[in-house]
Amino acid sequence: MGMTTFVPNSDRNEPADAPVVAMNSDLNDISVADLINASRCAEVIDAMRDFYAETDRLIAVHQPQCANRGLCCRFGEFGHRLYVTSLEVAYYLSGHPVPPVVEDDICPHAYDAACHARDHRPMGCRIFYCDPAAASWQGPLTEERLATLRTLHEKLNVPYIYADWMTFLKALRAHATSYLTS
Ligand code: SF4
Repeated sequence: MGMTTFVPNSDRNEPADAPVVAMNSDLNDISVADLINASRCAEVIDAMRDFYAETDRLIAVHQPQCANRGLCCRFGEFGHRLYVTSLEVAYYLSGHPVPPVVEDDICPHAYDAACHARDHRPMGCRIFYCDPAAASWQGPLTEERLATLRTLHEKLNVPYIYADWMTFLKALRAHATSYLTS
């Protein structure tokens, strides 16, 4: 497959009036159209597949244990948030082009005590363990991986947005719904 370069603000595949995901007044917004176009870029997919393979390898070194299967994906109940970058969302979309309905403050991929987006789940899902033994390595690893992600954003020309996973999912679902019903 030939390499394609992601071009922000391009409307070659998606309507230019697709909703904008407004994240943080300190950051640029990004349109859902840009996220979808990035998700179709072979260079983006290959780079993120390699990034997660390396991330998983770095985590496995620590042999972490998951004791609360799926509880941390129930954000309100667990009392934390999952932040992701727009490049991660683009890769997620490459495997889940029609995101599921979002209800409550629970990741829609969390059910039956399992993650149903496992191959395309964000970095935070991979690194986070509530096991106290993970506290010594997950912070430094997160910082290092985020720095690498920033470099990838620049290399792939994908605008860097770091925002709540549920905010992204709601915007993607709203766009998919309007697309499916139009
Ligand atoms: S993508 Fe998977 S691991 Fe991440 S919050 Fe959703 S269900 Fe949990």
